[in-house]
Amino acid sequence: MSERIIPIVDHLYAASVPQVPAHAADVQGQPTDRLHRPLHDLRISVTDRCNFRCTYCMPKEIFDKHYEFLQHADLLSFEEITRAARVFIDLGVRKIRLTGGEPLLRKHLERLVDMLHGLRTLDGTPPELTLTTNGSILARKAQQLKDAGLDRVTVSLDALDDAAFRRMNDVDFPVADVLHGIDAAIAAGLAPVKVNMVVKRGTNDAQILPMAEHFRGTGVVLRFIEYMDVGNTNGWRMDEVLPSQQVIDRIHAVHPLHPLEPHSAGETAQRWAYDDGAGEIGVISSVTRAFCASCNRARLSMEGKLYLCLFATHGHDLRALLRGDPRTGLAPVSDAELRAALAQVWTQRDDRYSLLRGTAAGQSLRNERKVEMSYIGG
Ligand code: SAM
Ligand code: SF4
Ligand code: SF4
Repeated sequence: MSERIIPIVDHLYAASVPQVPAHAADVQGQPTDRLHRPLHDLRISVTDRCNFRCTYCMPKEIFDKHYEFLQHADLLSFEEITRAARVFIDLGVRKIRLTGGEPLLRKHLERLVDMLHGLRTLDGTPPELTLTTNGSILARKAQQLKDAGLDRVTVSLDALDDAAFRRMNDVDFPVADVLHGIDAAIAAGLAPVKVNMVVKRGTNDAQILPMAEHFRGTGVVLRFIEYMDVGNTNGWRMDEVLPSQQVIDRIHAVHPLHPLEPHSAGETAQRWAYDDGAGEIGVISSVTRAFCASCNRARLSMEGKLYLCLFATHGHDLRALLRGDPRTGLAPVSDAELRAALAQVWTQRDDRYSLLRGTAAGQSLRNERKVEMSYIGG
């Protein structure tokens, strides 16, 4: 007899309301954290819902019809997201990535893109705006998103073979529709389009070479991601992780590669180029090569909780600051107060889970309840 697994209710993720410093207006400048890392990237998850059930992210047995997704009133409005983003930008953020769940399921997302595009970074330019999507409805949305000010898009695609892809997404979604989405993104000029493939040893690693060969010479940058121990529901096991070096070795044996320099500090992917000039690929070795030392990302959930690490067990409740909290008598804060509170949170950050993974401290973190990838958005 199979036991029913009790669903984890997202809005119960632990969070505390950040303190607003007494002299908020005096807090100026761009903060760095305890490991001297600046705040540069903001990932905003706009929904906890998704039309896929990728086995490594939202396994069907848990994210089933009993699972309690958030109600619309719990989500930050586009105005609240834009206000928070403006304050993050004031603290140094230059790049914003929209994610989810599946971000294109959030109605009128192009309105949010338009609002974020209207913001200005400290050097007077619009923030770099990107989106990560499963590509299922991208063919319909790509041009609208581009027109609203989206710069680039990353499409997740774990196999080229239709049967293998349907098994990975676990809702029988055909690969052809995602490929159409990628074509539409290219046609709309959301370039360079990136494609992310999560590699699970024994599940889709036979697709590495077909994927590489499909995207070679197209201008699309294919990136291979090591299967990560995020969240608590995917039953992660180390023996299902295929180290990135083996991905490179397999491709290099057929299509020789050479390493490229990173574009910027804090870039998570290691870049490789085909010797014959057919473009580049990347590997994101989240498990075998920790990049915490340069991690400059903050993550904001759809209900306004701020997480300082993908593996965090605890968030900071910005929605309470933005809306006020009648339970505690907290009034909505001003932009200056929000800024000062966020600066203080970032200054105290010392998260570095990947560096600690093999240690006793990492083990104890692993035993705590972490946020799910579908909640925080990768
Ligand atoms: N639904 C969108 C998508 O799939 O692109 C955006 C959200 S999804 C959570 C963001 C990224 O996280 C995807 O590229 C997905 O493949 C990746 N991801 C999810 N679970 C993962 C895991 N356990 N290990 C590595 N990457 C994972
Ligand atoms: Fe949905 Fe993206 Fe998670 Fe797949 S990886 S289940 S598409 S949120
Ligand atoms: Fe950043 Fe946390 Fe990942 Fe390290 S483990 S790179 S701190 S998100």
